[in-house]
Amino acid sequence: MTVYLVGAGPGDPALLTLRGAEVLAGADVVVYDRLSVTSLLDLAPADAERISVGKQPGGPRTSQDDINALLVARGQAGQQVVRLKGGDPFVFARGGEEAAALAAAGVAFEVVPGITSAVAVPAYAGIPVTMRYSSTSFTVVTGHEDPAKGEGSVNWEAVAALGGTVVVLMGAARCRPICDRLVAAGMAPDTPAAAVQWGTRPSQRTLRATLATLADLDPQPPATIVIGEVAAADLAWYENRPLFGHRIVVTRAQPQAAGLAAELRRRGAEAIELPVIAFEPPEDLDRLEKAAAEVGTYDWLVLTSPTGVARFFEQLPDARSLGGVKVAAIGPGTAAALAERNVVADLVPEQYVAEALLEALSDEVEPDEVGPEGPGRVLIPRAETARDVLPDGLAAAGWDVDVVPAYRTVAPAPDPAAAALLADAEVITFTSSSTVTNFVDSYGADIVPEVVATIGPITSQTARSRGLEVAVEASEHTVDGLVSALEDFFTR
Ligand code: SAH
Repeated sequence: MTVYLVGAGPGDPALLTLRGAEVLAGADVVVYDRLSVTSLLDLAPADAERISVGKQPGGPRTSQDDINALLVARGQAGQQVVRLKGGDPFVFARGGEEAAALAAAGVAFEVVPGITSAVAVPAYAGIPVTMRYSSTSFTVVTGHEDPAKGEGSVNWEAVAALGGTVVVLMGAARCRPICDRLVAAGMAPDTPAAAVQWGTRPSQRTLRATLATLADLDPQPPATIVIGEVAAADLAWYENRPLFGHRIVVTRAQPQAAGLAAELRRRGAEAIELPVIAFEPPEDLDRLEKAAAEVGTYDWLVLTSPTGVARFFEQLPDARSLGGVKVAAIGPGTAAALAERNVVADLVPEQYVAEALLEALSDEVEPDEVGPEGPGRVLIPRAETARDVLPDGLAAAGWDVDVVPAYRTVAPAPDPAAAALLADAEVITFTSSSTVTNFVDSYGADIVPEVVATIGPITSQTARSRGLEVAVEASEHTVDGLVSALEDFFTR
């Protein structure tokens, strides 16, 4: 089997290459460093072995020889091994030594290049490493050696003389001697210089100064230092995103959590997925099966969640039986789930709550057209436990209502990593009352991050009843509405 030396990119998990994702998905073992992004580890199969070889703060570092030996042994054992490395595996990452050890042992290997921080980190800070005419080269140099001690092999005079952009990796701790040395070698002290800490990550921070003053700002690792005319460029885009730098917890069930998390990330937030809901089949599936088979006998099919849509259509034996049935969706998410199945909702209320749906359905019938059997038959496939507003209201208005359990929402076992995940989270999002209830039951109210954001008034009410203070409530009760409400909250 093969050992893959994979570049993981500088931090933003989306900067992994397609090939990197592909080999991770087939990994038996992943060998990773401390700075690795945990969401990339999630791309490996759940049962893949994960071995950390990075230096833990205060703990020991696995020696390079031990890492080489580990890769060789696992490769010889016939496992698919992914050696995940920050940035590019051959840029200051000792990938060359690992490849040499594998080659010497006759173990097949493949190098999957990665996006190096030398280029991507400045890019995320709005600094292009070259500019036509003014910056016609860039030199990537290690800051690992102390230039003041006269040791090492970096020719700082040559670097300074080149006149292009200088990118220093591993240089935060030696920022002052490096800058001093470049000035001594002839670079102007007022040359623009920037240090980008934790680049491409939600905690990114860009320090801007000159060669003479950068060290005064005391850059902290990991930082990429950029020196040259380009370092004055401020084409900021990443740090300007509306939710940049905020750590936001998503409690929705999978797969919906991924959609909300992706929207938050697109706006610069760090989204932490901690699902407190999972869906299971209802206690009694026969009723749904029967109702789906007989759906043609109803006047209205009313769906109140995307999951309800999914479960109903799994049981629907013949789509043609929906032909004469009108279909209502509680909101655009549910309507979209219907549209995926080529069904256009006849009715979506203006407010996405049961009360509004009830009112909209009532408006659909002219009172003088209602015969002795009432306005019609309604089928509502939905969660086993749900509010009774809709069925009770419809029944009170004379409708013949069948509520059929389509799924059960359950609380998954509490995540042992929750406390760590929640530690510096700033915001928590609740997209339904059951997310609130399950979260508080699983983890307690004390651990809830400072800013509570809900999808609407019902969820807020539940949150308050559990002793939480609601800071943000979506005025449009959809995921998009919740994301906009958060944007407003942080940009106003
Ligand atoms: N192989 C890596 C570099 C490893 S050396 C690559 O190609 O990117 C580690 C150095 O890379 C750090 O000291 C720092 O200078 C830089 N670096 C890595 N990740 C970074 C990040 N997220 N932000 C800023 N600099 C980073």
